[in-house]
Amino acid sequence: MALADKYRTPLTGLPFASSLIERPLTEQPNPDLLRDKLAAETTKVMLISDQGAAALGEELFFLPGPSYKAKEAERLVYLGTAESIDYVVAIVDAQDHSAAGIEKWFTLREAFTILPTLQAELLVEAQAICNWIRSERYCPKCGSEVQASNSGWGQSCVENSHELFPRTDPAIIASVIDSEDRLLLGSNANFKSKMYSVLAGFVEAGESLESAVHREIFEESGVLVGEVAYRGSQPWPLPRSLMLGFAAEATSIELIPDGAEINDLRWFSRAELRLALEAGTIDIPRGVSIAHALIRSWYGKPLPEAQSK
Ligand SMILES: [Zn+2]
Repeated sequence: MALADKYRTPLTGLPFASSLIERPLTEQPNPDLLRDKLAAETTKVMLISDQGAAALGEELFFLPGPSYKAKEAERLVYLGTAESIDYVVAIVDAQDHSAAGIEKWFTLREAFTILPTLQAELLVEAQAICNWIRSERYCPKCGSEVQASNSGWGQSCVENSHELFPRTDPAIIASVIDSEDRLLLGSNANFKSKMYSVLAGFVEAGESLESAVHREIFEESGVLVGEVAYRGSQPWPLPRSLMLGFAAEATSIELIPDGAEINDLRWFSRAELRLALEAGTIDIPRGVSIAHALIRSWYGKPLPEAQSK
């Protein structure tokens, strides 16, 4: 037995993965890039504070480049170009911009489901780089303070010019499928009750993605995995993950929840999943997550809404 061909194809239309933004080239940094972009009326500046991204109605709030007046200590990052418009994000204190016409501040989780595609992708990029800038204030090599470089995409320490680059944590997420074409779903101890999803976990140091799939699935469920096929990826900056989606062939079916991270595990046929959702006894991740895309891909058509009980 091996994975069916339909589980080896790429997932299409994954949110935040549509490459709408032409990102800045970082190999040959232009030290004047941010200054030049801010001088242009067509450049749009997004504001991010610790309360989220500045919003107006159901969309992001942008200032035209020349209207953005930098406050001391604000950091800027050039996000790139989309549809001939340049985008810059400023990391700000919400208080300093309270008079700018901002209605509210979107958290990433709120914004995910509301924003138009390009704005959602801009926010994911902006949030990811902001999270890194906020978290790495001191050089991990010598402990000295850091300053921005490379249009915001790098930092270097003030004492020894050590160069620092944004970090991303890879995590695998896998639809595990048995010989009867059933899907393995687990209930995470952190989820609200009734929520079942495909299993996921971080890649360990020095580990391949494939090894991580084998290890995580066995650790969380006791299931042994054979063949593994890559399906697609999705940035998930909460705070800095990259989700790497896989299909995996189960070579054993006995379920042993780890009791810590996973409370309950079940194999679902398509009919069983449909009945459970319609009866409201379980729910699955919805919306933009790659978890939903993996479950939807296995199911083969849109999933029934869960009935609330
Ligand atoms: Zn240093």
